[in-house]
Amino acid sequence: VTSSSSAPSAEPSWHSKAASVDWDVRPFIDGEYRDPAADATYEDIDPATESALCEVSVGDARDIGAAVASARRCFEGGAWWEQSPAMRAEVLLKLADLIDEHQEELAILDCLEMGKPIQAALSDAGLGATTLLKSWAGAAEHLLGQSLPLTPGTAGFSAWEPRGVVAAVTPWNFPVTNAIYKLGPALAAGNSVVLKPSELSPSSALKVAELALEAGVPAGALNVVPGLGSTVGEALVTHRDVDFITFTGSTATGKRIMELAGRSHATPLILECGGKSAQVVFDDVADLDDVAAAVLRDAFPNQGQVCAAHTRLVVHKNVREPLLERLLPGARELVPASPLEDSTTFGPLASPAQRDRVRAYVDSGLAAGAEPVLQGEIQESGGCYVSPTIFDRVSTEMAIVQEEIFGPVLCVQSFATDDEAIALANCTDYGLAATVWTRDLSRAKRMARAIRCAGIAVRSSADEGRFADFRSELVLGYEPQKASGFGAEMGVKGLESYSVPKAVYFQGL
Ligand code: NAD
Repeated sequence: VTSSSSAPSAEPSWHSKAASVDWDVRPFIDGEYRDPAADATYEDIDPATESALCEVSVGDARDIGAAVASARRCFEGGAWWEQSPAMRAEVLLKLADLIDEHQEELAILDCLEMGKPIQAALSDAGLGATTLLKSWAGAAEHLLGQSLPLTPGTAGFSAWEPRGVVAAVTPWNFPVTNAIYKLGPALAAGNSVVLKPSELSPSSALKVAELALEAGVPAGALNVVPGLGSTVGEALVTHRDVDFITFTGSTATGKRIMELAGRSHATPLILECGGKSAQVVFDDVADLDDVAAAVLRDAFPNQGQVCAAHTRLVVHKNVREPLLERLLPGARELVPASPLEDSTTFGPLASPAQRDRVRAYVDSGLAAGAEPVLQGEIQESGGCYVSPTIFDRVSTEMAIVQEEIFGPVLCVQSFATDDEAIALANCTDYGLAATVWTRDLSRAKRMARAIRCAGIAVRSSADEGRFADFRSELVLGYEPQKASGFGAEMGVKGLESYSVPKAVYFQGL
């Protein structure tokens, strides 16, 4: 592990700012922090050092009972949903401003709890969270129903209504933006929310709840209950007074939540789950240096801990060798370092469990005969630092190709024909994202249709990069396919997910 020292300045270092964090990880219910009901706690671990940051309550059904009751009271009282969409938008825009003002504080929490490099954490809390929130605030007034042509004495129209109490369960990989992905559309559509953040990173969501109250979101409209999935998570998704569940996390947990929701009262839900996305490179690309840079950027963002990370490189056999030659030097430069340094772009994995998971997959790839053209180092203690591994000559049935590793491991497969490229791109259970590199328009159109996923980028150059994808997702929306989940969250389509259409008829009026 390397770390670089920052230039001398009057500004305290991130290390000293981190040392002065005052941890409060109690549930935020009905507009205030409350002592948790359960006595049992677990340690919130800093993955950069593996030392404990604070103790968090494991939580239990009593905390969830109080939070759901508060959300229900708020909903029935109408303090939030009976406001006009424009008023709700105004409050959410104020919340976006407050998040911006508290960007450093939020970023430090995410940096410490899940090891996100500080500059990336600042960008998540600043641009990421506020852009998302503003997009739903802007969409709030565009949730429009339909009307029937008028006939004498009758009228019919449809009206979108909020679902009521929304249970939101989130993962740890983008703690503050994961919270906004849920509370943004849910609140914009007029619902009350009970959010259960990941046990690894509860603090920034709690802070957002505090800021939401300050922005004017009424007490009870946003409650946050930290704790474990097996205690707080299950109590939340099985609560009889929850009207809708929104989940982001692994496919295994998503399946479990579907089962629980079915057994509860058939609670409707949407799931944003895992991925195993393909970067498909044809041999007509103009600039392999561009492609190599994009392959690294897309495979290893957030140390590979991104649902849409492109962890499979599917490359035409004519350009496989030259592309690998260009990839390796850049991959070797991804040396993990302390997330509290401004210069760090590649931090530790989020937890010791995540490090063990990646080690087990690397071992399984080696045992299955995959060729490690780059084998990453794994630090065993004192920090969950893991550098990238690239496996060449993998085959479709290997676990490293089929399963989501959620760490810095890239698998390389090659093809000779367009049909083979499509088959490889579609060869896993997942359907989240894909990128295709080609300059051939008819091939591009075929790939865009044939590859099953929520969002696909077809590129001939690296210009615009991820920014164009992000804008398209915000405005156009998407839904995951296959085992990656279902349900829309972005844009007006996202607001529709968090609402129900009601048909209204007037006769003789
Ligand atoms: P996870 O499934 O282990 O946990 C996600 C959340 O579910 C956590 O808050 C956890 O406490 C909770 N949970 C666990 N068991 C539960 C249960 N039985 N009932 C209710 N809640 C329960 O996932 P993770 O390790 O936190 O996050 C990584 C996963 O998230 C990856 O699979 C990644 O692909 C996925 N993810 C998907 C998207 C997307 O948009 N598709 C975005 C980010 C992350």
